[in-house]
Amino acid sequence: PAEGGALDIGGLTVGYGGAPVLHEVGFALAPGEVVALLGANGAGKTTLLRALAGLVPVASGSITLDGDDLAPLRTEDRARRGIALVPDGQSVVAELTVDENLRLGGLWRHRGAARERAVAAVYDLFEPLARRRASAGHQLSGGERQMLALGRALMAEPIVLALDEPSLGLAPLVVAHLMGTLRDAAASRGLTVLLAEQNVTSALSIADRGVVLDLGRVVADAPAAALAADETLRHAYLGF
Ligand code: ATP
Repeated sequence: PAEGGALDIGGLTVGYGGAPVLHEVGFALAPGEVVALLGANGAGKTTLLRALAGLVPVASGSITLDGDDLAPLRTEDRARRGIALVPDGQSVVAELTVDENLRLGGLWRHRGAARERAVAAVYDLFEPLARRRASAGHQLSGGERQMLALGRALMAEPIVLALDEPSLGLAPLVVAHLMGTLRDAAASRGLTVLLAEQNVTSALSIADRGVVLDLGRVVADAPAAALAADETLRHAYLGF
């Protein structure tokens, strides 16, 4: 299991040149904790994940991993430090096989026997992928593709895994399976997980805590069960 994984986001303000999209956002993830990042379309979830990965400049505030400020690190150095981002949409290479896509994810992390062990560990976790190892990316179902994107991120042996709407476009049963495997992967590897989702029920079903963003501000930060039970909050920000 990963060592450490305490992620601290403090007073984070981020914009795209104009008015800020995130306003002094702050919350923390304990090592091994699964936190659902919730909020309507445009609330700023993707922007927060992009800031974590170093894909968008931060106007003020800080992000630290086990006490180390990530600000000086470029995106690839954050990946080496242990931050993995599974972006939304199709991040799988359509022309490459499942096996090749996985190997691509571990290209800079390990070689030889270590890489073979990492591939085998991903197949242990995701049996459907093992069966499809010779299939090309474009032949996979939506659920298999999302699983492959997740497996590929794990090949980098991250400490913190950030996912942007992995359930998007998937059927409810497939989402349930994906969430279960994500929970298992996080638990078996001791990963800290930040899960941005519009599928609130599914995300809260596997999360320890939830953080709700509204128009770029944190409006709730509470245990998952408390958020799911809070009717006022659900109606106001979560749409159910
Ligand atoms: P979604 O679920 O739609 O991805 P989100 O909660 O992830 O929503 P963001 O994508 O972070 O929200 O968007 C937050 C705000 O930032 C929106 O108002 C959006 O229009 C704006 N925004 C996002 N990307 C850019 C960009 N590249 N340039 C300017 N504004 C942007």
